[in-house]
Amino acid sequence: MHKTISLSCLIFISACASVETRLPSVDPSAFAKETAMQESQAFIRYTDMLTRLDRVSAKILKTNAQLCEKTRSDIGARTHISKSYSKHLRQAAARQLGAKKTPSVLMVRPNSPAQIAGLIKGDVLLNKNNKSVSENAKNILGNDGQFKIRRAGKIMTLMAKPETICDYKVNLRMSGAVNAYATGRAIIVTTAMIAFAKTDEELALVIGHELAHNTMGHIPKIIRNVILSGFATRTTRPFEAEADYVGLYYMARAGYDFKDVELFWRRLGVQHPKAILREKTHPMTPSRLLSIRSTADEIRAKQKTGETLRPNYIKPQ
Ligand SMILES: [Zn+2]
Repeated sequence: MHKTISLSCLIFISACASVETRLPSVDPSAFAKETAMQESQAFIRYTDMLTRLDRVSAKILKTNAQLCEKTRSDIGARTHISKSYSKHLRQAAARQLGAKKTPSVLMVRPNSPAQIAGLIKGDVLLNKNNKSVSENAKNILGNDGQFKIRRAGKIMTLMAKPETICDYKVNLRMSGAVNAYATGRAIIVTTAMIAFAKTDEELALVIGHELAHNTMGHIPKIIRNVILSGFATRTTRPFEAEADYVGLYYMARAGYDFKDVELFWRRLGVQHPKAILREKTHPMTPSRLLSIRSTADEIRAKQKTGETLRPNYIKPQ
């Protein structure tokens, strides 16, 4: 940066303005120390947020497995590679979190099958050919729940009782934009959204909403509709309503209290009128709020009678 300024000053000497006060000089070693400290704190904050996202999303993906068409066996570990991070963060992620070119375990969820099996951070999950793989790779586990890992250069065999979960990855993106979105295969939540969602209930609401976009196949439908009509907003609105409706069921099935959901959507609409969740152009509308309220009433009525919590589908499922 400084080099660029001085270079351009050489070329355009007359155009270069300067400061008028004598600024304190910066000690290079103190500068390096402060940089390292800020970097380390940023990654501690990132892993804290990821732990929270992982805890809430695991609960939702597991309790709704029966309603998901795509499921997989899960042991509750999260692997990462350097490409899991945006380009400018990769070197720092390697220093702070040990991110490599090949997958290694970043975190093991407390009380998960992986933790009970003895898996720890830094372990490498292996496939049948002893090649390092991510946690959602197929066929890691043998029929008896055995799986292979590499730890400190040694290959070991561990044993886990896997759980069945909805097969959608939930990822965290470092970003100052309050945002969450579904890609069809994954759910992405930004660090700013995690900070905005004050309680786990609020985070569960966001994840449930985005999961519904994926399970209900909205992404290809939206793309098709946009291509056909040219009006993104008008055509995405029914899908938003459906993601609200189905997402609330997902949240309730995971055992989260949904009494404050209206407050969350209102707070998001008021504070971040442009925050998306695919609502770029239309903040929280009164009709949307009212239909969320009706959904909450519908779920409460089913809870009272002990009826299974399933969305009311038009065609029998
Ligand atoms: Zn949405």
